[in-house]
Amino acid sequence: MNNFSIAIHGGAGTLVKGLMTLELEAEYKAALKTARDIGYKILEQGGTALDAVESAVNSLEDTPLFNAGKGAVFTYEGTHEMDASIMDGKTLDAGAVSLVTGIKNPVSLARDVMEKSYHVFLAGEGAMKFAKSNGYDIETPEYFYDEVRYKQWQGIKDSDSFQLDHSVKKDGKFGTVGAVACDQHGNIAGATSTGGMTNKKWGRVGDSPMVGAGVYANNKTCAVSCTGSGEFFIRGVVAYDVSCLMEHKGLSVEEASNEVIHKRILELKGDGGLIAIDAQGNIAMPFNTEGMYRAFKTSKGEEEIYIYK
Ligand code: ASP
Repeated sequence: MNNFSIAIHGGAGTLVKGLMTLELEAEYKAALKTARDIGYKILEQGGTALDAVESAVNSLEDTPLFNAGKGAVFTYEGTHEMDASIMDGKTLDAGAVSLVTGIKNPVSLARDVMEKSYHVFLAGEGAMKFAKSNGYDIETPEYFYDEVRYKQWQGIKDSDSFQLDHSVKKDGKFGTVGAVACDQHGNIAGATSTGGMTNKKWGRVGDSPMVGAGVYANNKTCAVSCTGSGEFFIRGVVAYDVSCLMEHKGLSVEEASNEVIHKRILELKGDGGLIAIDAQGNIAMPFNTEGMYRAFKTSKGEEEIYIYK
């Protein structure tokens, strides 16, 4: 039996110790633990890495604490436009959706694109038609309403600026979510889900739904899920870059992840972090911001939940 393990993130950003109440910190840690343990249990029972990452991300999408699913940030128009992706390292199959509204669990829709369509990436109206034809309920805007997010948006809504959810200092409402896992059969998978940036307009899409940028998985190398300034992560083709460094330069998952986050993405002036796993279950979770919500658990008995450095 292969070692198995899972890692999850809830976004990277200016998470400075002391800015958040201890109660809120405990809430975040509890939400991370729940999501991680849901995924781990699937692996423990012999389930697939793909099922583990989808279920862990679903759990993070269902809490208002993170910028994905229920907690998605407001766009310039006062709506919620969500992006998500998933990739199977065994087959290199992938699915992604972008600019979807009213979908409770965008990562599951991404998986359906992968498994029930001939395509990899569906966006906007077409993705919504696909969701409806596959029986998805469309939630009302109230489901996604959150006062803190609303205030965040009100603060910048009349300006031309847009803001990364995780760069807000005043509160603890940060982050895109993601998961990577390695199962007992030695297969790996990755998934990412986000509401994008507060006040985004013009159909802005970040790295999260883009295979190679915000997500990647290949049994030969690693599975990756990213969080950070999406425009830079797209230009850095970050998730695939980690895989390439392993494949072509022979770096370990830890070395490759560090090289990308602490060197290559910084050279582009991008900030953020990623979680990565290889087919032996080794995990890396580097970030170049002040913090990143993250947690992991391995079959060797290691487990941790962190927010700060
Ligand atoms: N990378 C995401 C985006 O640019 C944001 C985040 O990670 O919080 O849409």
